[in-house]
Amino acid sequence: MVSHSPYETSKIRDILSQVMDPEIPVLSIIDLGVLREIRVENSQVHVVITPTYSGCPAMEMIAANIRMELMAGGYSNPEVVQQLDPAWTTDWMTESGKAKLKEYGIAPPPAAHHKSCTDLFAEESVQCPHCNSWHTGRISEFGSTACKSLYKCEDCLEPFDYFKCH
Ligand SMILES: [Zn+2]
Repeated sequence: MVSHSPYETSKIRDILSQVMDPEIPVLSIIDLGVLREIRVENSQVHVVITPTYSGCPAMEMIAANIRMELMAGGYSNPEVVQQLDPAWTTDWMTESGKAKLKEYGIAPPPAAHHKSCTDLFAEESVQCPHCNSWHTGRISEFGSTACKSLYKCEDCLEPFDYFKCH
């Protein structure tokens, strides 16, 4: 295998486009701009990601999913490195990511400047993961972790966690 082969990198990129953000399951880590770098050295894949918000357990899930997808794609022992500096901004979100966000019912971030996530996501719609109903209501600001809110579906009556921005 040739190191830094553009073919290899684009193959890995395709695999990583399957890794979705747990907060917003229609967005891949590429849509979000969380994926910063792919390196192949001596047949080992190194992936650099920048968390959207530091300290959120969603990032651990993303890192685990990256490793899982790469191993399923035949890459043994891939390494995922979190890079905190420079900090992620909504400017890194791709245009197609913003379009998907809008389709999903969430106002996309403004193009120019990183706005506070709290303002941005305050009025979002949350879809029931069980029956896909949009008739949901927030029961509690905090779910099973500080990163989640607890919602309940008004159609199937199932409660569910929602990963929120903070
Ligand atoms: Zn439901």
